Amino acid sequence: MSLEKRFDDLSRKLYGRPIHQCTEAELYHVLLNLSKALSAEKPVMDGERKLYYISAEFLVGKLLSNNLINLGVYDEIDDILKKCNKSLSSIEDMEPEPSLGNGGLGRLAACFMDSIATLGLSGCGVGLNYHFGLFHQVFKDHLQNAEKDPWLQKDSFINDTGLSFDVKFGHASVKSHMYDLDVIGYESGIAKLHLFDLEGLDESLVQKGIDFDKTAVDKNLTLFLYPDDSDEAGNLLRIYQQYFMVSNAAQLIIKEMKDKGYDLHELDKHAVVQINDTHPTMVIPELIRILTQEEEFTMDDAIAVVMKTCAYTNHTILAEALETWPLSYLEEVVPVLVPIIKELANRVKKEHADNEKVHIIDDNGRVHMAHIDIHYGFSINGVAAIHTDILKNTELNDFYKLYPEKFNNKTNGITFRRWLLSCNRPLSALLDRTIGTGYRKDANELEKLKSFKDDENVLNEIVKIKADKKLELVKTIKEREGIDLDPKSIFDIQIKRLHEYKRQQMNALYIIHKYLEIKGGKLPKRPISCIFGAKAAPAYVIAKDIIHLLLTLQEIINNDPDVSPYLKVVMVTNYNVDYAEKLIPASDISEQISLASKEASGTSNMKFMLNGAITLGTDDGANVEIHDLVGDDNIYIFGADSDTVIKHYHDRDYFSRGIYRKSKVVKEAVDFIVGPEALKVGKRENLGRLYMELLKKDWFMTLLDFESYIERKDQIIEDYEDRDRWKRMMLMNIANAGFFSSDRTIEEYNRDIWKLPRVSL
Ligand SMILES: *Cc1c(COP(=O)(O)O)cnc(C)c1O
Repeated sequence: MSLEKRFDDLSRKLYGRPIHQCTEAELYHVLLNLSKALSAEKPVMDGERKLYYISAEFLVGKLLSNNLINLGVYDEIDDILKKCNKSLSSIEDMEPEPSLGNGGLGRLAACFMDSIATLGLSGCGVGLNYHFGLFHQVFKDHLQNAEKDPWLQKDSFINDTGLSFDVKFGHASVKSHMYDLDVIGYESGIAKLHLFDLEGLDESLVQKGIDFDKTAVDKNLTLFLYPDDSDEAGNLLRIYQQYFMVSNAAQLIIKEMKDKGYDLHELDKHAVVQINDTHPTMVIPELIRILTQEEEFTMDDAIAVVMKTCAYTNHTILAEALETWPLSYLEEVVPVLVPIIKELANRVKKEHADNEKVHIIDDNGRVHMAHIDIHYGFSINGVAAIHTDILKNTELNDFYKLYPEKFNNKTNGITFRRWLLSCNRPLSALLDRTIGTGYRKDANELEKLKSFKDDENVLNEIVKIKADKKLELVKTIKEREGIDLDPKSIFDIQIKRLHEYKRQQMNALYIIHKYLEIKGGKLPKRPISCIFGAKAAPAYVIAKDIIHLLLTLQEIINNDPDVSPYLKVVMVTNYNVDYAEKLIPASDISEQISLASKEASGTSNMKFMLNGAITLGTDDGANVEIHDLVGDDNIYIFGADSDTVIKHYHDRDYFSRGIYRKSKVVKEAVDFIVGPEALKVGKRENLGRLYMELLKKDWFMTLLDFESYIERKDQIIEDYEDRDRWKRMMLMNIANAGFFSSDRTIEEYNRDIWKLPRVSL
């Protein structure tokens, strides 16, 4: 049957009307069901050896367009809709974005699932089905407010599997329910993303905002991702969630091994577990518990086989992000695991009596989750070359000396299906016409674009595509935020979670600096549009103060008739994958300005590069590798390097106030935060706190790099006027982006860690 007939039949079956008489909301549901029917006909990857990728987050993004692309029917559906006077993009607007992640970590897991499916590897994802996600961000009085994000609908891409497990906590026993999301590989089969939910979840616990009774764990477990952990109940709830996730994962693994008739003593032959950050760490003691208590393994045998099965990915060197749990909390939540964790800790303590830094339980009775992973896993990887080097040489050096063979690097990647084919169809169409379609499966073929570096037609087309994408974004921002942007202005974009180490505050200081220059009569040659998107963790006070500063600047600048023709500020509401897909193709400058050594990898830097934006950044994370690939001429690097920064921390000799006192430019920008113009619009409490933070602490060294940032940013803005040079820079960035395909990353994970056979379809 033709696709058109199937589509039309389905629309008649569901709504009693042909396609052209359906509303967009109806067509969304018709296409959702069509996509599910088509994916059900695809084979599920499942082989002799299987990967279980466990992650607290999977930031998958909207699924309809991406699924249609990966099913190979996007253009056909688009044509059918056009004939009926309907547009696929307005139908896509009807889809709620799944709220199953927070930022880069969760987006990485989603890109990896796409590549696993595309490459035909036998693997699945395991996570949780949060009903209200992280939170939905709204702005009121220039402040962030958090609301619940109820994204689940009756009719969705998620399927009920009917599978359920019991999970026993200290005081309660609960039942889970497994839901599946089909991840469709590009012209390939399906990988399952298993999302566990709590049976008996009570959504009515959440009344206003995102507050709820954190102690009612038998009713609240899967309400939110990362519930506020600033109090004890919040900490306990996170442990409950983590154990719920990994107990389900472990039970699923054991069940599948038994169903396939494998000997559990050969678990490591048939299963490999990737622990994405420390949240799933308890899968190690949980597997050992099941093997020793339910499968008659000796402790030695259980530990030996689990050690050969589990691998860990480190995503951060920020001390405050490396999880440690008080043993007393674990005793309350998961008493059954405590004897096993203690046994694991004792073995380490005995073996390494001389080095407390590698112990699992410290003198304060805190359990270091990453230490469990490193001692009792067979692999530990960082996520960019510089990050892995810092782990080896500094942060985890004691472990590296013990287990050099376990350490390896896997530079992150992004799926080109979503971040090129789906979000920038005109650019992928241009690539199809110039270098052929081979790059879709082998991203290295993007290099062929280099032979067009002096082809004015191709260069001008790239510029035209960018201009069109900017126009689309202007429209979106007008609709969603009510702000007018000049499509001819430079689009300078910083979108990422709000964190002091990412230094949105430094970008804000630059904006203040520009504002003061314009007020003083120094006008930019071309207007600049500074665009931000970021959520701040609800308990992270300074991060919310930075949002307040950005919204205050937005109000002041956009309403100042002297300044707004030259400078605009927009903080978009509720930054998510959907917004990213609209912002990135439209951007000229990619802001990647983290304090060197602090951004493990970053992945938005890769998305921007692939879409022809030029990076303004520090030599940090994957920026270092972008820099290596494109060379000095096609990137704008500034600021202290990671060795310098690490030395400042070591010597404790960084004092922001000294820089503030010495530099007029720095002082003027910082003082503006608590000056009369800012206080007329913003709140003294928030702005004053941020001002003091910058002067008294500035832990992430904003002022250290501020002047070199101004200099480099002024340069990139000036160079934008050299349009011949700029378009060549765009081309060189696109042409060198192939390395950052998550297909390459996943090939490396598979070659070095997972060793999965390719499933032949
Ligand atoms: C890619 C992505 C991120 C990660 O951004 P970084 O700049 O690498 O931190 C965060 N959120 C969303 C929605 C993304 O698409």
